[in-house]
Amino acid sequence: MRVGLLGGTFDPIHLGHLRAAESAREGLDLDLVVFLPSGEPPHRTGPLASALDRFTMACLASAGHPRFAVWETELKRPGPSYTVDTLASLHAERPDDELVLVVGGDTWPEMTEWREPERLFSLAEVAVVTRPGQPSPTTAPPFPGARVTRIDGPALPISATAIREHVRRGESVRYLVPVPVAEFIARRGLYA
Ligand code: ATP
Repeated sequence: MRVGLLGGTFDPIHLGHLRAAESAREGLDLDLVVFLPSGEPPHRTGPLASALDRFTMACLASAGHPRFAVWETELKRPGPSYTVDTLASLHAERPDDELVLVVGGDTWPEMTEWREPERLFSLAEVAVVTRPGQPSPTTAPPFPGARVTRIDGPALPISATAIREHVRRGESVRYLVPVPVAEFIARRGLYA
């Protein structure tokens, strides 16, 4: 199976994440796209919602798509999770799967600074989904043998930061997050 992996804080998950996942799924012929919410960072200025709330919102958001899933791989790990460790453990658990790491265009330039980048690129293909309103990144493979594909949307100019700001100001987030996520945010009083 070809499995796409989209990690993030998802604070909250929004239609930009869902659309990026869908564009990557179609563009790279993925059988499944998995959202991997990050765990609770040890010292934090953010995220602002708990790991459980962020996980719940990811489940609510992806429930309607037969090829989307949410896994708790990173949530269960204490301390910071490094992508290379997540990929190595998923690779060990599912040796027959092809792993495709999906990242936004803003995240891509940081990736060579991540822990053990060469090993990371050997464990997964990488899909870079360009974010509207941000310069289109060059996606030359950073290491010999690295497999990198740029997915030029369709993508949506939505960020979690903007959503938290809308909620804080008492503004609507309708059509920026799925309806059950908007309801969950209101019910739990998140970001207010
Ligand atoms: P924040 O505004 O809090 O920084 P964010 O909206 O960027 O959050 P993250 O949870 O940090 O969301 O993002 C997870 C992953 O999804 C990252 O790789 C990010 O680049 C990507 N991503 C987020 N929003 C979009 C979008 N609108 N289009 C494409 N990729 C996106």
